[in-house]
This record gives sequence, structure tokens and C-alpha cells, in this order.
Amino acid sequence: MAKTQTPHIAILPSPGMGHLIPLVEFAKRFVHQHNFTVTFVIPTGDSPTKAQKSALDSLPSSIDYVFLPPVDLSDLPRDAKIETVISSTVARSLSFLRDTLKSLVAKTKLVGLVVDLFGTDAFDVAREFNLLPYIFFPSTAMTLSLFLHLQKLDPMVSCEYKDLPEVRIPGCIPINGNELLDPVQDRKNDAYKWVFHHAKRYRLAEGIMVNSFVDLEGGALKALQEKEPGKPPVYPVGPLVNVDPSNKADASDCLKWLDDQPHGSVLYVSFGSGGTLSSDQLNELATGLEMSEQRFLWVVRSPNDKVANATFFSAESQKDPFDFLPKGFLERTKGRGLVVPSWAPQSQVLSHGSTGGFLTHCGWNSILESVVFGVPLIAWPLYAEQKMNAAMLTQDIKVALRPKPDDNGLIYRDEIAKTVKGLMEGEEGKGVRNRMKDLKEAAAKTLSENGSSTKALSEVATKWRNQTPL
Ligand code: UDP
Repeated sequence: MAKTQTPHIAILPSPGMGHLIPLVEFAKRFVHQHNFTVTFVIPTGDSPTKAQKSALDSLPSSIDYVFLPPVDLSDLPRDAKIETVISSTVARSLSFLRDTLKSLVAKTKLVGLVVDLFGTDAFDVAREFNLLPYIFFPSTAMTLSLFLHLQKLDPMVSCEYKDLPEVRIPGCIPINGNELLDPVQDRKNDAYKWVFHHAKRYRLAEGIMVNSFVDLEGGALKALQEKEPGKPPVYPVGPLVNVDPSNKADASDCLKWLDDQPHGSVLYVSFGSGGTLSSDQLNELATGLEMSEQRFLWVVRSPNDKVANATFFSAESQKDPFDFLPKGFLERTKGRGLVVPSWAPQSQVLSHGSTGGFLTHCGWNSILESVVFGVPLIAWPLYAEQKMNAAMLTQDIKVALRPKPDDNGLIYRDEIAKTVKGLMEGEEGKGVRNRMKDLKEAAAKTLSENGSSTKALSEVATKWRNQTPL
């Protein structure tokens, strides 16, 4: 069969929906704006999830996908952290990746391999095929800046980072060590070793694309773009978010319900694809929402008292989440509040005129979606880099209010009610709302034809076009 002459790239997303979604948007932009074709090559530790499959099945024909055979992870400790699970999955999939790249090279004009934050072990395989390895960093420029800074920080600091009252990440507001991302909170854990391993290998990339933009993270991006020997160029290509209204669930009950609510009156409450609360916290949140007397649309999951990301790989609650709500809650809030189990069509909810606020776990995709649709936030971070995101949103760009937990980390009903009212009705909420409106305009500009993110993406496309494949 003759090889096609359209430039082709392979994308290796690490497991988890939060990583796949922005990469899909990235792929769509490449296909539509630069006429590339793309194959997603997806490592798996388990069988692919329904959410993964449906995100991939709705893609245009120029974007193909292949799931690599599941790898055996049975030797990992039962309490292995997500970063360890993800990184091990990728590292153990390399021979499958090699086979797949070989067959792509035979069929297509394969010019590049893109991995996301924990995929750097695939670089060596990419080089075997003369492919330029790139990173698509689906999180903040702040986290990327920390990753690149770790090489200096690690030998300099002897204690745990969480014991430092202040960490200075280049270009960012100072942050308390205990708000840094989860896997660096325990330096003896394998998760930290993996993060450090990847962070060192970031320098081997030809370039790093980050899902952010200058008006949102000017300081961090400036620091990242300062030239330094061995540092790859950094391209701010965001905000790349899923805004496709055709993305199913359009007849969803919650959208119909939103149609009947007054403009800007509803607080959307969701903890991303994996976030779970403890039973006590779920109870406080329900009661706080009720006490706030505001309208709300809440995506509720069954509580988990052990970990905050219990459904990271599956998104589906294992039990009926409604069973865990306070007695009579659904009846008392009927009409004013709508509770949906496990999943809602988020970008459609955020773009709906009735939505006036978003209580979020501060996952970066959720934040970018809010920016694109101009929805002000309540920051309720749970895991990963979300506390850093919350600090940035509240102290730096000031587009979010943040309820205070007590010493045990529980956020009480009164605090929740006060914050919700503050956002939806208060003076503080007005300021936050106005700043979010400005950011929305800036986001639209950066993604327009001559915008800086569009140009950054074109630069990468040009490099790939000029690449001579094997
Ligand atoms: N999402 C959704 N419906 C839900 C929960 C999440 O559509 O009920 C989407 C959301 O729009 C976002 C992604 O899943 O694009 C979640 O990514 P994020 O980075 O916010 O958080 P993560 O799930 O990675 O913690």
C-alpha cells in the first residue's frame, strides 16, 4: 500500500479522562488548522473505559485510535499512587508502542510523537523512529515551572517540601509547601520518584506545549520562556477545551432544567471526572447548599472516606450516590436544586446562560472551561495539583472565592453557605465575575486567527512539516 503524504503524528495519552480530553482538543486543532492526521496510541492497565471510548468514537475520521494491550500491574503495592500507576503503565507499554509506531511508519508520513505529563519514557522509542518527541502539558504553566525547577529544588532542600512555609516557583506567587501537588508531598514515595524522573526527562523533549495562555499565567510563562541551556522551547497553546455542543448528552435532563432557570442564577457543583468527598463532607456540602438558598446543579458521587480521587479511572459511582444525601434533602430543594448522579455534560452546562457560578475541584480542564465561558468560581481543591491551582485562582488572578476548611480539613455548612451566597449575590462575587469576564475575552482573542496560542501551535506544525521521516 502506498504511504499517504499527509503529515501524521502519534499521541500517547496517559490513562485518565482528564488527560485525554485536552489532547483530543489539541488533535482536533491540528487536524482542522494544519491538515495533519493523528493516531492516539493509548496505554492501558485495564480495559478501556466507556467514557474513553465515547470520547474517541466521536472524533473526525482523520483522528484514529488504538488501545495498546493491557499491561500487568499486579506487582504494584495496593496503595500505589496514581502517578506510579500511570507511569508504570506507560513504561510497561513501550514494546507495544514500538510495534504500533512501526506499523504507522509503514503506512503514514509519521513525523512526531506527543506524550503528556507522565509519558516521557516513550521518548527513546520515538527517537528510534527518528520522531521528534514533544510534551503536551495538560496542566498549568505554574506546575510545569515547578517540574522544571525540581532539579534545583531537590538537591537544595533536605526536608519534606510540605514543611516549607514558602516555595518560590519561578514566575509564580509564593506558595506554602503543603499546597504543592500531591506526589511531591512525600519524597520517599515512588510517586515522587516518578515525578522527579519525568521532570528530569522533560529537558529531552524537542518542545513543550502547555495548555495555558499569557493573560492567565503571564509570570510563569515568561519564566518558562527564558532561554537556558538544555531547556526546550515552551509553547503556550491554550486554552484548549472541549466546547463542542454536538458532544452528545444534548437532550440531557439537566440542560432542559437549566433552560427553565433565570439567567446567571445557578451554581454548578462538580468535582471533575474523579473527585469524591468523604461522607461527612458530602453531608456538609448538601446542607450548605440548602442553607445558601441559591439554585444549584450538583453532580454527586458516592462518598469515599479514604481517597479524594476514588473514581479517577472510572468516573462512575459504585453505589447509588443519592442514598448518601441527608434525609429529605431532595424534596426540600426540589425546584431550586437539581442533583445528577456521576456525570453531566459540563461544557454545555458552563456555556448555558442560566449558569452563574461553578464550585469546582480546580481540575485544570474545568478551570479553562470556566475561563472560556466566563463563569466565576468557588475553589474547592481535592488532589493532584489542585491546591496550587486554587492558590493561583484566589490569590493571583482573583477569579475565585475559597471556603476555609477547619484544622481537620472539613469545610462546614456555614462556610459553604456564606461562600456560595458571596459568589452568587455578594460584592466580592461581583469583582470575581468581572475579572472572569475580562479573561473570557482574552481567551477568545488568544485563540483567534492571529492570537498567540494559534501562532504557537503553527510554529510546532511548521517544525513537524519540515521534519524528514524515516
Ligand atoms: N467532565 C464532564 N462532566 C462531569 C465531570 C467532568 O464533562 O460530570 C469533564 C470536564 O468538562 C473536564 C473533565 O471532565 O473537561 C475533567 O477534567 P479536570 O481537569 O477538570 O479534572 P479531572 O477529572 O482531571 O480531575
